[in-house]
Amino acid sequence: MTDKSKFTQPIYHDEDADSSYIEDKTVAVLGYGSQGHAHAQNLDDSGVDVVVGLQEGSSTRKAVEQDGLRVATPVEAAAEADIVSVLVPDTVQPAVYEAIAPELDAGDTLQFAHGFNIHYGQIEPPTDVDVTMVAPKSPGHLVRRNYEAGEGTPALIAIEQDYSGEAKQESLAYAQAIGCARAGVLQTSFQEEVESDLFGEQAVLCGGVTSLVKHGFETLVDNGYSPEMAYFECLNELKLIVDLMYEGGHAEMWNSVSDTAEFGGLTRGDRIVDENVRENMEEVLEEVQNGEFAREWITENQAGRPSYEQRRDAEMNHQIEDVGGRLRSLFAWADEDEETETPEAP
Ligand code: NAD
Ligand code: MG
Ligand code: MG
Ligand code: MG
Ligand code: MG
Repeated sequence: MTDKSKFTQPIYHDEDADSSYIEDKTVAVLGYGSQGHAHAQNLDDSGVDVVVGLQEGSSTRKAVEQDGLRVATPVEAAAEADIVSVLVPDTVQPAVYEAIAPELDAGDTLQFAHGFNIHYGQIEPPTDVDVTMVAPKSPGHLVRRNYEAGEGTPALIAIEQDYSGEAKQESLAYAQAIGCARAGVLQTSFQEEVESDLFGEQAVLCGGVTSLVKHGFETLVDNGYSPEMAYFECLNELKLIVDLMYEGGHAEMWNSVSDTAEFGGLTRGDRIVDENVRENMEEVLEEVQNGEFAREWITENQAGRPSYEQRRDAEMNHQIEDVGGRLRSLFAWADEDEETETPEAP
């Protein structure tokens, strides 16, 4: 058993949660996508009364009914619920919130799985409700699959507003009901969750990694190496390296590669990602902290996403996509139905 006292903060498990804070309540799960389908089914299996909120004409309604759950419009669902779990895409949450806001009674809970709209003021709930977060640190299909296997997925909880005085107990009970307290629940704040999430996906996970891969690929190709070789060395093998880091940290990765790779990496790595990169990271973090990134993304959506679409196109048309697509089609793994699991989709 892991020694919990070695962490810098408490980690909550089933024994810390009290299901009485949720068992007599009705939860409206708005949206039935990655997170929504997992929360709704796990809550239902845990004996909690669930109603899924989807628009009248939504093609997803059939799936909800096939899974044996009740479905209503988001407004109807919110009207009967004590806890409204907002699991529609972040960009549509403000509009959905406007519609359901009149249905929030004093003491109800407005709950999120990501804090963007609360933290950046796109949703401003009344003062007489609880505003909470229960955010599994994994995509929904794993939240569901782990639950069914009797296991759990770690999650974050956060309390933005505690009108009832019971927001934390209720969040822990919700986290337990979706299976997360089996694995471990950490408490954070909306601010910390949002800022660290945005920074991580921009600087390291999504933005940083793809940029590093493209620069590596281009450097080899521009110096006369074949695109196929460049693809294997700079993209394909990344998965093997990340798998080792995921299993056993940097130590396991360094132990598993050749001594030559280890010496070369240890002496050259910090020359590639150097102090300039660190300064750029500070800048990107500042834009997250001061709201500049949020404003840019909100404006971008209001304008119909012109810059997003253009950058997306450029990314899809990069040479690495072309050569990668052709190479992947040669190999069996591309055809296998087996999903390549990501521990967390940012
Ligand atoms: P998703 O895109 O997978 O699903 C969204 C669902 O909302 C779909 O069922 C869609 O039909 C429905 N929907 C869309 N517009 C709607 C509307 N106007 N009214 C009602 N329903 C509508 O979303 P997701 O990835 O599950 O994200 C939900 C929340 O969970 C977000 O806040 C996200 O940041 C957070 N989150 C996601 C993950 C993840 O791995 N996907 C992980 C942690 C947190
Ligand atoms: Mg209500
Ligand atoms: Mg409540
Ligand atoms: Mg090699
Ligand atoms: Mg994110």
